[in-house]
Amino acid sequence: MNASVCVRPFAACGLAMVLSSCAPSGSATRGGGELLDPVMGDWQGHRVSVDGSVVPITVQAIALGEQKYRFVVQNRFDVRDSSFTVSYEGMLDGSRLGVPEHPSWVATIEDGVIAGRTTLSEAVHFGLNHIVRLSPNLGATAPEGAVGLFNGTSLEAWERREVKQRETPVGWKVFDGVLEVVPGTGDIMTKRKFADFQLHIEFRSPFMPEARGQARGNSGVYLQGRYEVQVLDSYGLKGEDNECGGIYKVSAPRVNMCAPPGQWQSYDVAFRAPRFGPDGTKRDDARVTVVHNGIVIHENLAIPGPTGGAIDEDVQLPGPLLLQDHGNLVQYRNIWIYELNP
Ligand code: MG
Repeated sequence: MNASVCVRPFAACGLAMVLSSCAPSGSATRGGGELLDPVMGDWQGHRVSVDGSVVPITVQAIALGEQKYRFVVQNRFDVRDSSFTVSYEGMLDGSRLGVPEHPSWVATIEDGVIAGRTTLSEAVHFGLNHIVRLSPNLGATAPEGAVGLFNGTSLEAWERREVKQRETPVGWKVFDGVLEVVPGTGDIMTKRKFADFQLHIEFRSPFMPEARGQARGNSGVYLQGRYEVQVLDSYGLKGEDNECGGIYKVSAPRVNMCAPPGQWQSYDVAFRAPRFGPDGTKRDDARVTVVHNGIVIHENLAIPGPTGGAIDEDVQLPGPLLLQDHGNLVQYRNIWIYELNP
């Protein structure tokens, strides 16, 4: 997301205003614009040591519920291995942020600014601004000839996954231009099937601070109904093969580009179906390049076979785009596919 960093110190214009001015409607806020959480999200600033040296720091604050947070501290965003990565669990008490394992640290949060210091002899000061970094690919326009799959109103392109329910309308909800999972109504998939294609899709994770792991904003984008690009609220985590951007249990993203819950994100995917010789022998695996929030997280990656939950093993046939109902209120919008080699 480096190219599209939207940096506005909260001190300059106030928290709610920053979020609404940086972000399209709904990003980092819900509905009427209320803030999902005052601490959660990206922070950027500096640490100043007693000898005067200044070190840039970034913090991703993961909401854990009950005023608890995990602060992942690095020297820059969007890297798997920073020159340092440390994380601390902290608590919010009024405007005071405390880190129980470092009681000498004192910090306050006010108007989107964290200001803190240590009370030790080697004291450091630190200051951070709350920022919102949006994907540069949000709102990507479908090229001429693309197949529109969801433009904010109609579910005409979709059907239920379950064969026995095909005649029943899709159970997911459409409102405010958004498609939202209705838990328990099942996966949905496009009526049309695709072979090689370029996909654009936007998604947003629900705010579930008490949930952990695979129970936190889980859904999935299944290419050809067979290969899952995981959708999960894994904001601030390491970026494993079952977390957001992972090709499920096949490959971890190069870097975890997951944005905080409540913020719209984008996947831009180039998919090449597996290739077979005349005798049915596989000559090449399915291949995928995935761009998450503007950053390449998989490049021409070979996927040896269908991932868990695939619709079938008929890998020689075209397949639908499938979106997973994993029981969480994940939202989607602006979905289109441009067919390659049709
Ligand atoms: Mg999933």
